Amino acid sequence: MKPFSKMETRLVIEAKIRAETALHLGCGGSVETSGTDSPVIKTADGRPFIPGSSIKGVLRSFAEQLLRTMQDHRIEGPEPRPKSGVWACEPFAGTCCISKEDKDRFWEEAQKEAKEKQPEPDETNKKKPTRDEIFAQEVFKHACYACRLFGCQYFAGRIAVADAFPDGEVATHVRDGVGIDRDTGTAKEGIKYDFEVVEPGAEFNLRIVCENLKEPEEVFFTHLLQLWRDEGLHLGGQTTRGLGLTRLRDIRVRRYDADALVGLGEPEEMELDALAGKLNKHWRRRDA
Ligand SMILES: [Zn+2]
Repeated sequence: MKPFSKMETRLVIEAKIRAETALHLGCGGSVETSGTDSPVIKTADGRPFIPGSSIKGVLRSFAEQLLRTMQDHRIEGPEPRPKSGVWACEPFAGTCCISKEDKDRFWEEAQKEAKEKQPEPDETNKKKPTRDEIFAQEVFKHACYACRLFGCQYFAGRIAVADAFPDGEVATHVRDGVGIDRDTGTAKEGIKYDFEVVEPGAEFNLRIVCENLKEPEEVFFTHLLQLWRDEGLHLGGQTTRGLGLTRLRDIRVRRYDADALVGLGEPEEMELDALAGKLNKHWRRRDA
């Protein structure tokens, strides 16, 4: 279900992800097929890549952390605020911004509204919202900022990340590891395993498409990308061993408004810093 049946704007971000340290994106393969205990994920023709879902997951948890920090430091979010009052829920900890009671109530109301609401006489050519659309819109209003951007079980997110394929040749090698005792956290004697990594310096092509973000959401999201570029973000596994540090470079941002989308205008090329720099305009510290 989509709370937005129309496409109004589209922000396309392209960049290179550079591995600053070795990168391990495991695929759960086995020794028999790969010759290592833990191979990296590869395309059918054997090139390592970074699944878009992994990137999106890392960006989402980064966004959640930042939203909670903003809330703790009384940085006031943009309008309209989530009606739930939750800025970033923790679905895996069992605290979703939409409770089961909320969901049931919205569903009942949507069923009623879809039956009762008739199109205005002068709007007969307009499509009547369906029960599913009314429900998705109501859930969206109450959902936290993280769910609104990245989606949840009730509606699709508005940020799509494509699989990032290598830019040029990417070398891998197999590293020796030491087994860690899960109970004590120390190296376990006699247990050895190895894992495959992508070597530092490898670059992957990133492409993110954001649809129908309001400007405050655009500046929040591009601010995340600014931090990724300047401070780095960890992708993949073994990050406690220092693996997986990546940075963005060669970032290109294009923004399509409705005219550009239908071919009546050109997309606007934007500077990431100019867009992300508007954070101050939309997100401000509330006076105590
Ligand atoms: Zn949520």
